[in-house]
Amino acid sequence: MKLSLPPHVVKYPDWLLGVLPDVDSSYGKEALMGLAHAIALANVSQGGGPFGAIVATEEGKWVSLGANRVVADVDSTAHAEIMAIRNAEKECGTHYLSAEGLPPLELYTSCAPCIQCYGAIWWSGLKTVYSSASKEDAERVGFSEGPVTPELWQALESERGVKYHAGFARDAAALRPFELFAKAGELY
Ligand SMILES: [Zn+2]
Repeated sequence: MKLSLPPHVVKYPDWLLGVLPDVDSSYGKEALMGLAHAIALANVSQGGGPFGAIVATEEGKWVSLGANRVVADVDSTAHAEIMAIRNAEKECGTHYLSAEGLPPLELYTSCAPCIQCYGAIWWSGLKTVYSSASKEDAERVGFSEGPVTPELWQALESERGVKYHAGFARDAAALRPFELFAKAGELY
């Protein structure tokens, strides 16, 4: 199996694709997380939750984007990480993102994954996850992340080989989507 980028097969709305300064570029890890923050912020303006995610290759080529569309799509599973994973699997033509022939893929998510997204990561085959804002940041504006514990992340590493990097680039841009959401968004 060979991943060819670009072109991308998944079609995104203009507002979502618009967060990428250069669609064909490679991005550094901090820049990729910056894009996840930008998706989260743009998504609030589009009636979504303050969460964004990107799947990218180790070299920083983006593979898929995801934004939280729970309210907009009337879908409790439409979290940013889930959307990015679904889109990456479509892009790669496999339900297993460590399939032979694929380059190592990484998930960048603007906020620590909830219990559902933890499960989705478990099954996705992704081996590297970076998250930025904390569970507490999300809970402060009223979201619930469910019973995700450090022990669960340790189990994901020991049983599935997933390296989880929490609190990555948790800067002002990481918190801005929550601030905007607190003023304008619909909580669920
Ligand atoms: Zn989630």
